[in-house]
Amino acid sequence: MTIKNTNILIIGAGPAGIFTAYELIEKGYEGKITLIEKGVSIDKRHCPKDKTGICVNCKPYCHITTGFSGAGAFSDGKLSLVTEVGGDLPSHSGASKVQGFIDYTDQIYLKFGADEKIEGIENTAEIKEIRRKAISASLKLVDCPIRHLGTEKAQEIYLDLQNYLLENEVDIHFGTLAEDFIIEAGAIKGAIITDSKSKKNSVKLMADQVIVATGRKGSDWLFHMCQKHGINQVAGPIDIGVRVEVRNEVMESVNNVLYESKLIGYPNPFGDKVRTFCQNPGGFVSQENYDEGIAIVNGHSYKELKSNNTNLAILSSHHFTEPFNQPTEYGKMTAKLVNMLGNGAILVQRYGDILEGKRTWQHELDRSNVTPTLKDAVAGDLTSSLPYRTMTNILNFIEALDKVVPGFASRETLLYGPEIKFYSNRITLNDNFETNIKGLYALGDSSGWTRGLMMASAMGVMMGRYLVEKK
Ligand SMILES: Cc1cc2nc3c(=O)[nH]c(=O)nc-3n(C[C@H](O)[C@H](O)[C@H](O)COP(=O)(O)OP(=O)(O)OC[C@H]3O[C@@H](n4cnc5c(N)ncnc54)[C@H](O)[C@@H]3O)c2cc1C
Repeated sequence: MTIKNTNILIIGAGPAGIFTAYELIEKGYEGKITLIEKGVSIDKRHCPKDKTGICVNCKPYCHITTGFSGAGAFSDGKLSLVTEVGGDLPSHSGASKVQGFIDYTDQIYLKFGADEKIEGIENTAEIKEIRRKAISASLKLVDCPIRHLGTEKAQEIYLDLQNYLLENEVDIHFGTLAEDFIIEAGAIKGAIITDSKSKKNSVKLMADQVIVATGRKGSDWLFHMCQKHGINQVAGPIDIGVRVEVRNEVMESVNNVLYESKLIGYPNPFGDKVRTFCQNPGGFVSQENYDEGIAIVNGHSYKELKSNNTNLAILSSHHFTEPFNQPTEYGKMTAKLVNMLGNGAILVQRYGDILEGKRTWQHELDRSNVTPTLKDAVAGDLTSSLPYRTMTNILNFIEALDKVVPGFASRETLLYGPEIKFYSNRITLNDNFETNIKGLYALGDSSGWTRGLMMASAMGVMMGRYLVEKK
């Protein structure tokens, strides 16, 4: 492996890393920029499931979450255009500053071909009615304008961004994994990197500044780096829940006026925050594979190809108190338990079966109005594996949601599990995203401060802007 020493080393080519490099170029940074990514370039990313119909557990990495554009490539490409959605960066940097960068970043997506249309800002009379129903069910409807790229378009946009970075001499190395940091006397000096497949021939890559943007999947590695090098971090929450799937007809009244209905509640008896997330009208339930063989459910939608169903996540936030400080491990153990009951696959259960205290059988799904869009999900029993607190929160939330969307709590409504959002450790950052190690910065989902495409992208832009202005 031959990589020359550099001025700025960016680890991870997800939206946060990409937009850092983009903004550095745009604002005329003259130093050398190196971007390393453990996956492949976007044009080589293919999920075999498109052909095989089932997940083949790609090794060494899942193409859905790894490679140029990170978890963004196969994502649904929904850009949330307000600060209330996509992470806690506003509480770090101030809502109005972050909003300014979201608006700026949105213009970049438009420049690279994003759809001009913004969903979720029309039909105010109908939205008022949904809000009225939500209030009477003790739920809060969050306003969120969305720019929907769609999975196919998102890939085109990120391909153009990849070409733009290459044309502007960003030194991009795919299949290259950061193993460790090189830190001397409290300051970053570079990173130890290696070939991500063979994991042989580690080399030292020296850099003046290192930006870590390794995403949700890289947060475990970063957690260990923080422990090893004394980088300050605090335990964050973890969101555990299910992906719910209903017929489009049930969700029509909401889908037609709000592309994404973001509802939040604090159901009894625990009063935990429970919310809807990532709603996909006409969409498809999907599976993501994490290292350690963990299968997690997700959902996406295509611009053209549509199903008869709408899916959305219902997530329950868990905040742990002392002495426990390993939320990620808690999430993984929960996922493993659900996977174990599904023989390694995603479990699916009908809502009515949960209320009746029985598992779901495949033949019951076969005769249902709601045909599962995740074909390899295994019919079974989520209640035997999800924690009591999570399950209670989800069921009570579904009952409340039924008042806003009649039919949502129908017997045939499908619940897939586990859906887990790992954003546990939150790196302690100064105003410029610098850690307590001089010259080492953390960004995006791996920093614990974002959890969405737009906020991770905007944080990347903020990073790039700071590094140029600082010079
Ligand atoms: C299926 C799916 C659908 C989603 N849909 C949406 C959506 O519609 N809207 C939305 O706002 N958000 C969505 N998200 C979330 C969104 O994709 C992420 O919030 C966003 O991609 C985070 O950007 P990031 O740059 O911080 O990290 P990532 O996109 O995760 O990128 C991190 C990159 O770092 C690389 N990496 C990790 N460790 C190392 C290492 N040690 N060395 C080198 N490289 C490394 C990874 O391979 C990866 O490419 C979705 C996520 C998934 C998985």
